Amino acid sequence: VTAPTSPHILKVALDTPLRRTFDYLPPPGVAGRGVQPGMRVAVPLGRRRAIGFVVGVADTTEVPPARLKAAIELLDPEPLWDAQCFDLLLWAADYYQHPLGEVLAASIPAALRRGAPAVHALAAWQLSATGLEQLTGTGLRLGPRQRELVERLRNGPVVAAEVSAAQLGPALRSLARRGWVEPLELPAPAPAAGSATTRAPPLTAAQRLACDAIAGSLGGFTPWLLHGVTGSGKTEVYLDVIERVLAAGQGALVLVPEIALTPQLVGRFRGRLPVPVVTLHSSMTDAERLEAWQAARSGAAPVVIGTRSAVFTPLPAPGVILVDEEHDASYKQQDGFRYSARDLAVARAARHRIPVVLGSATPSLESLANATETRYRKLLLPERAGSAGKPRVGVVDLRLHAARDGLAQPVIAAIERHLADRGQVLVYLNRRGYAPTLFCSGCGWIAPCPACDARMTVHMARARLVCHHCGADAPLPFGCPKCGSEVSAVGQGTERVEQALAELFPQAPLVRVDRDVIRRRGDIERALEEVASGRARILLGTQMLTKGHDYPDVTLVAVLNADQGLFGADFRASERLAQQIVQVAGRAGRGHRPGEVLIQSAYPENPLLVSLVTEGYEGFALRALAERRDAAWPPYSRLALLRADSPERGEVYAFLRAAAAAAPDLGGVRLLGPAPASMERRAGRYRAQLLLEASTRPPLKRWLEAWLPQVEQLKHPRQLRWSVDVDPIEVD
Ligand code: ADP
Ligand code: ZN
Ligand code: ZN
Repeated sequence: VTAPTSPHILKVALDTPLRRTFDYLPPPGVAGRGVQPGMRVAVPLGRRRAIGFVVGVADTTEVPPARLKAAIELLDPEPLWDAQCFDLLLWAADYYQHPLGEVLAASIPAALRRGAPAVHALAAWQLSATGLEQLTGTGLRLGPRQRELVERLRNGPVVAAEVSAAQLGPALRSLARRGWVEPLELPAPAPAAGSATTRAPPLTAAQRLACDAIAGSLGGFTPWLLHGVTGSGKTEVYLDVIERVLAAGQGALVLVPEIALTPQLVGRFRGRLPVPVVTLHSSMTDAERLEAWQAARSGAAPVVIGTRSAVFTPLPAPGVILVDEEHDASYKQQDGFRYSARDLAVARAARHRIPVVLGSATPSLESLANATETRYRKLLLPERAGSAGKPRVGVVDLRLHAARDGLAQPVIAAIERHLADRGQVLVYLNRRGYAPTLFCSGCGWIAPCPACDARMTVHMARARLVCHHCGADAPLPFGCPKCGSEVSAVGQGTERVEQALAELFPQAPLVRVDRDVIRRRGDIERALEEVASGRARILLGTQMLTKGHDYPDVTLVAVLNADQGLFGADFRASERLAQQIVQVAGRAGRGHRPGEVLIQSAYPENPLLVSLVTEGYEGFALRALAERRDAAWPPYSRLALLRADSPERGEVYAFLRAAAAAAPDLGGVRLLGPAPASMERRAGRYRAQLLLEASTRPPLKRWLEAWLPQVEQLKHPRQLRWSVDVDPIEVD
């Protein structure tokens, strides 16, 4: 190693699963001191050119001089991220124990990973000094096309796209050959500003209090939990806070769950705010995402509304971060870099020293515990903005009442009553298809998925059996493939309930909403328009109904199967169920008629269900938190999972046992397993896991840091995959 005069070794993180950085010399002609962490470089990697991220510039390297290569090209004149966001990413890689290069790559639009520019500029041409000189002279012989182009260029630079649009390409090339024109880049025009045509309603007292409290915290880090019942006007609070932030010359980052990013929500923001608002979500093209990201980073669009990965959007001057429906599971990335955007939003706000608002009608138990322990400050919007009050909630005991195709008699009677009163009815069943089971009464055969430990779901309209876990499908058999006896569909999905409702209430037009009928962009809007216009009287659907949409004329909500959630394999199953019930109930009955909610259950005395019905979500949450404390589940413990899967069952357990044997000799962490996943075989792969549990984070982190490098060294067959999940949201 030669003694360097200045730091000149680039530490580069590459988009690979390796937990290390790679050393390079700066590209030719670039000084080490000109390179900053957060810039992209193109580097040679084996025989190919890879794009990596500079994470440090050092004096020394372990790489022998003969093997040390130079980077090919520096791609950015400035770091991609603001300093706080970059620091967040470094921290997150460490916290989630994920390779840094993959973390950095996952945080930016795909086009940037491939080397697209971070600044949106338009290629253009202008007259060069020689060009100006020559063209002022006389006696120049120019063709008509060339003359036209020169006329345009005399008025200033011309965008390259306009040159080709006007078919002046050949003329341009002939001027360029003579050195009379030169390329330059013009800044891209800013996205269109919002119309600011709607005005805020006069805020309710509770909204006022919340807005003032948050506004009073601007300029410093405060995490807020905004617990507002559905329809209480949380979005109005967000808008008010954003207006104040904009007035201070700053911007806002708004995170929303994937499905809530509807045109209506974005329209509401654009209709109110006088600045460009950009969105970032998965149904945008790579080019659209790149442009939105560039506009956010440059400050051209001071308001960004996006899903999970938008938490990493660089902003020149963020003033607040808002996380809507903070309890939503879609904030947790479920493969690769398994981060929680909700948690990272809080960590990011701390780095910018700005407030972060976590809003929900059904806050996660984690956030409620944080509020109780005063890490978060709590704001309440206890009532719906301008309407009828809370719905009545009742339980229908499925042991006492006969059910017809999943509909108990009291529920059928209630539907009849509400329809007769000109109300709309919402029927909620979180299971699509016709029936979850195809059963042979002759021999007891149940149609299994060939690739999963699961039953095939009957889809009658398509006459097929479909596995909802791996997508496998097969024709619906006429008889039992084992004994030839008659087979029957057991249990209910939305398709079957739709038929039953159509038979019971032939006069009431019905709209069904689930993934089998809502497949394309715009489908859901069309379906909900049927409901909004009043043409449809019954709305039937899955979880798709619980998010982002309001049904003001719905007066009855019937939840057909609460028991799925009460006895789920995961410790969060009951929390999810309570959230779904409260969300779906809360979206209904916003008009002036009070609503009614009926929950069908075969376990009406279940304490969690009782507290939900009698005391609402708060009562449920208190009881559920007490149960979590007793069982030492999060938020009263910290978890991490090491998952492995392979087509060979034996390989999975051999690997996990070897990993367990490599456990460090450090206290404070309990290692449980290997244990099979609750569905051990899925899509032809066997799945099992080790569960790590600690009462606080620091020992768990130390433990993982000591352990994972050992796990990484373990030899295993190529077809075996493994991953680490810190703070998993599902442990089944
Ligand atoms: P949330 O986000 O809590 O579900 P929204 O902000 O969407 O609630 O508000 C629900 C409905 O109530 C919307 O139609 C909204 O326009 C209306 N609303 C909100 N705040 C007020 C208010 N202060 N006065 C009148 N209407 C309001
Ligand atoms: Zn049979
Ligand atoms: Zn399957």
